[in-house]
Amino acid sequence: MSAIRVDRVELRRVRLPLIHRFRTSSHAKRELEHILVALTDADGAVGWGEIASPSGPFYSAETVASCWAVARDHLTPLVLGREWEHPAELAGAMARVRGNHFARAGFDMAAWALWTAKGGVPLAAALGGTRPSVEAGVSLGIEASVDELVEQVAARVAEGYRRVKLKIAPGWDVAPTRTVKAVFPEISVHVDANGAYSLDDLGVFRELDGLGLTMIEQPFAPRALVDHAVLQGLIGTPVCLDESVEEPDDLITALRLGAVRILNVKVSRMGGLTPAVRVHDLARAEGVPVWCGGMHEFGIGRAANVALSALPGFTLPSDVSGSAKYYRRDVTTTPVTCVNGVVVVPSEPGLGWHPDIGFIASRTLQAESAQG
Ligand code: MG
Repeated sequence: MSAIRVDRVELRRVRLPLIHRFRTSSHAKRELEHILVALTDADGAVGWGEIASPSGPFYSAETVASCWAVARDHLTPLVLGREWEHPAELAGAMARVRGNHFARAGFDMAAWALWTAKGGVPLAAALGGTRPSVEAGVSLGIEASVDELVEQVAARVAEGYRRVKLKIAPGWDVAPTRTVKAVFPEISVHVDANGAYSLDDLGVFRELDGLGLTMIEQPFAPRALVDHAVLQGLIGTPVCLDESVEEPDDLITALRLGAVRILNVKVSRMGGLTPAVRVHDLARAEGVPVWCGGMHEFGIGRAANVALSALPGFTLPSDVSGSAKYYRRDVTTTPVTCVNGVVVVPSEPGLGWHPDIGFIASRTLQAESAQG
């Protein structure tokens, strides 16, 4: 394929209401704003990506506002007018921008969407995906009561999901987890602490260790890799890292320390599909199973997650469930659907889902474009 040159970059800040309020240790949300990135090349072909940063700097240091500024002031000028033959080249150019992974991920995703659509290949196949369908689980936030949590899990199990992830935080950990394991012994359960604990809480982890969980995700702060290694040495349940691994080098450090037995790979956190594939390859070579985490993506980002999940190292169910769990109407013409906990990987060229331009326009709060 001849070189691609992006002549136009369009950014749109889009807001969608959430069906179910989602609460973690740090925030509760009723609606989400993400930034959609559209790259148009010299032939008029368009690739879409999504910057799925939370509004506040509570998952990573990024926010919607910081992503907008970095996308407009730093990434757009890097991308406009540049010629590239493979999305990895563009990702290499964008790596001049330190950090700001969510912002970079939106552009990298759009470049992959554009490149695969023009090349006539499905995104999943281009990334190295081999699975025709991917298993999805659901992630449940901190509910008002254990009864409400059990109700939520029951609803998901009835929909066919076989894996449930529970958010935990001090005061909401052993009791709700034990209840869910007791009421639903047939499903796979794991917990995600989003870094809310420290080694002072060892008692909590010893109790969780006795519950037969698939993994304990990100118990400690992102940079506390040594503490994660200490915990892994004391419990049998695999420690899974999420926030700790933002660069492939973070995984190398964690592996060397013995701080990770399972890796949650997020396209946004890694800075796009290009680095996400690299981290998958690294983990696979080391025998570390990976699964695809999510940031409540709209349809565009969700489509990229589905494609990534088709790679052979993604041996555990993803967090990438159907759009309908989150949004009444999504930004794609058809929603990502999950039937009995399974999402079919599209076989058509490109992203596999198409932006609903009219609906996106009706939900756009802010738009900006640049030509080059
Ligand atoms: Mg997590």
